[in-house]
Amino acid sequence: MNRRDFLTTATTASAALALGGCNDSNRQAIDYSKHPHAKENDTKRVNVNRNKKTIIKLATSWPAHFPIMGTGVENFAQRVQDVSGGSLEIKLYPKNTLVPALAVFDAASSGQIDAFHSGPYYWKGKNSAFSLYSGIPFGFTAEEINSWMLFGGGMELWREQYAIYNLHPFMGGNTNIQMGGWFRKPITSIEDMQGLKMRIPGLGGEVFSKMGVNPVLLPAGEIYTSLERGVIDATEWVGPALDMKMGFYKVAPYYYSGWHEPGSILELTFNKQFWNKLAFEHQAIVEVASSEMNANMTYEFHAQNIQALQKLKELNITLLHYPKDVIAAGKKALSEVLQELSDKNSDFKKVYASIENHLKLSKEWSDTSLRYFLNER
Ligand code: CA
Repeated sequence: MNRRDFLTTATTASAALALGGCNDSNRQAIDYSKHPHAKENDTKRVNVNRNKKTIIKLATSWPAHFPIMGTGVENFAQRVQDVSGGSLEIKLYPKNTLVPALAVFDAASSGQIDAFHSGPYYWKGKNSAFSLYSGIPFGFTAEEINSWMLFGGGMELWREQYAIYNLHPFMGGNTNIQMGGWFRKPITSIEDMQGLKMRIPGLGGEVFSKMGVNPVLLPAGEIYTSLERGVIDATEWVGPALDMKMGFYKVAPYYYSGWHEPGSILELTFNKQFWNKLAFEHQAIVEVASSEMNANMTYEFHAQNIQALQKLKELNITLLHYPKDVIAAGKKALSEVLQELSDKNSDFKKVYASIENHLKLSKEWSDTSLRYFLNER
């Protein structure tokens, strides 16, 4: 019995147990054979060679020991080594130690490295659809995007489109909901956004651009100084934990809640040939450890953000929400950006259609359950 058969049989059997004595023919068991991990490796199993250690050369877009993202990958590497009994080892190359931070995609595609940890929206220049795998403004929460990826068809689309680049992606973490950013002056209306110079990348940057903002791309090391000197008026980054370490509160004290990155996915991506040659057992270890990394980073962002928010509140900052006309302009700009990119790129259109379907249903369920609860809590 191969793995898919086993999963299907096991699922049917447990569904039969759960439904025992129940004649409700409309009830459907979850088809776990649809889980991306269940789709691989049905054929050509390669067994582990116990006499030879397998090494994965993995480069990241983060500096060594970078909080949460960098340390999360280090924990993942340690777990892989421990669970494999040392037969699988990940050799980590932090940002710029083997390849430049934003060259990891090409390096893994060509086989210079075996794998990388980064974020899908950095590769929108290859294919604008890739930015959608990070998420969209006003889109999925971390929980919702995980459900789209694993059970709503997202992972299949992602793997199909990355395969063209000889790559095989996994989810490798989630920044959880991000803050809107730090501003030198408060925003009282959409007029205050006109011509504002703001560091904001990805689809969020395209939306802000349509709203009249002048998005600026800066290396991480130059953001603070640019903000301090007034070269830029505002910057977004991640959330309280990482933002506080950057010191933005000292020079731009107006801190806005956000909607441009509600649950951005980070990726663990393999050279596809390297992945296919990896022993079946080692593939399973990477699948399990990457799921753990994906969950743990999401929760660590939450845990560190709740602490950092308390510390920030003791400093001289003002927590604010964007005015209503800014939100309305953001939603209008988003629909224009999505339409333009869908018209230009059939891959984008296909991925967005899948997101739109899952998001529509997610909103209804989340409004019915989570929004009610959060409002009443
Ligand atoms: Ca961000």
